Amino acid sequence: MTESLVHQIVDVLKTKVSEFKYNQWLRPTRFMIDGDAMKIEVPNKFIRDWIQDNYLPLIQYELFRLSNREFKIVFTVHEGAETSTALAGATQQILQQMGERAPNSSSATPAPARGAPHSHGSTSSHHPRSLQGFNSKYSFDTFVVGNSNQFCHAAALSVADHPGKTYNPLFIYGGVGLGKTHVLNAIGLKIAMNDPKKRIVSVTGEQFTNELINAIRYETTYEFRRKYRESCDILLIDDVQFISGKERTQEEFFHTFNTLYDSRRQIILTSDRPPKDIRDLEERLRSRFNWGLIADIQAPDTETRVAILQRRAESLGVALPNDIAYLVAEQVRTNIRDLEGAFNRLSAFSLLSKSEMNPALVIKILSEFIKEKQNTLSVERIQELVAIHYNVKVDDLVSERRFKAIAEPRQIAMYLCKKLLKASFPEIGQKFGGKDHSTVIHAVQKITKAVEQNTTMQTSISAIEKSLSI
Ligand code: ADP
Ligand code: MG
Repeated sequence: MTESLVHQIVDVLKTKVSEFKYNQWLRPTRFMIDGDAMKIEVPNKFIRDWIQDNYLPLIQYELFRLSNREFKIVFTVHEGAETSTALAGATQQILQQMGERAPNSSSATPAPARGAPHSHGSTSSHHPRSLQGFNSKYSFDTFVVGNSNQFCHAAALSVADHPGKTYNPLFIYGGVGLGKTHVLNAIGLKIAMNDPKKRIVSVTGEQFTNELINAIRYETTYEFRRKYRESCDILLIDDVQFISGKERTQEEFFHTFNTLYDSRRQIILTSDRPPKDIRDLEERLRSRFNWGLIADIQAPDTETRVAILQRRAESLGVALPNDIAYLVAEQVRTNIRDLEGAFNRLSAFSLLSKSEMNPALVIKILSEFIKEKQNTLSVERIQELVAIHYNVKVDDLVSERRFKAIAEPRQIAMYLCKKLLKASFPEIGQKFGGKDHSTVIHAVQKITKAVEQNTTMQTSISAIEKSLSI
């Protein structure tokens, strides 16, 4: 049982990280279950920090989902076992180059878990928090301004310099990987630098919700309110759309909002969509979100993408010729996170192989990168995760069986294929054991309606989407 749990966790991780990272960092790591703890034995502290910063919430979530029990996570660093210190050194170097939530090499403790893009939920509580836990990497200085984000940048800067005095609340919205968390962190950082005495509370919508649930459960709502209403001069909430459909959280947030707003304390919110498109949001909150300023971030144009690449190369001390920067910017158009991922891949490659970046090499590496990204989201992958979520077999999903316990997950999987892959109805039908396109249309309509009408469905779908996208 515990063995299979370990296997399942490793399998999930495998699907989340690229082959490159899997081989470099997860292969030498051992996972074991011991009583109520999952022990993770890593060859060096860099890998520990990397796992901790990027995958701890996922591991905890999966452990709980698979076993219905809560596990403690215990890391042991087993230096010198399989891996020499030379590899540790190389890993450190690559991690730093990759820059992707790379742990802070100068300290023995993990980097603060909060305040950085990609980080959802904190790992443990005893981390040192420099500048109130904001990550100095994501500042206004490192934020490249272009047409797509210039308005948001100006608003953010003004709020950071005059909190509570210009726009309240500031509501920032935009698609994934476009810099919302970066801007929010930059605001927090700047306020903390301008006035270290300001008490800044910075959480995600998800953390806010979880803290409230715990406060209710452990009867500590008094402390919860003190934290958010009294001991708080500035409130930053990332991904506030998470509270949609959660009535109790919205109620609490409503009162928090009013208390802060009435005493002119600054509130800054980010969301993946504008207030009017957040489903199941109380009207009184929706209207408050509109009281201040709404600023959107659009996808960057080519020039901005090039500028971001150049800035990144410069800060890493990597040579990046203009033609290569244009090539990368042309190839990767989705969002800035992907752009950085592609760039990291290229620089890691040229670092490891000591070869110069040239157009042919860039195209080769990028096409692998793009293919991998597409692979991570496919009909098969959606089927697999839906099957895991509902505890059915993929075979069942593509079968003709019509029990509700199977039919509903099947419809959900079809719905997600439509929504996330934008695949055509006949295409989807074909991947589900050759079903007719009308069956798919019916499924998509039914689930779309269910999502609109019922919170349980909405929660399930977002949990699956989340596990698909990490
Ligand atoms: P979001 O929260 O909108 O999903 P993030 O803030 O996590 O996006 O941004 C994704 C990545 O892109 C981060 O590494 C961030 O530093 C980088 N990034 C986003 N916008 C910019 C920008 N304008 N200039 C430089 N880097 C950016
Ligand atoms: Mg974000």
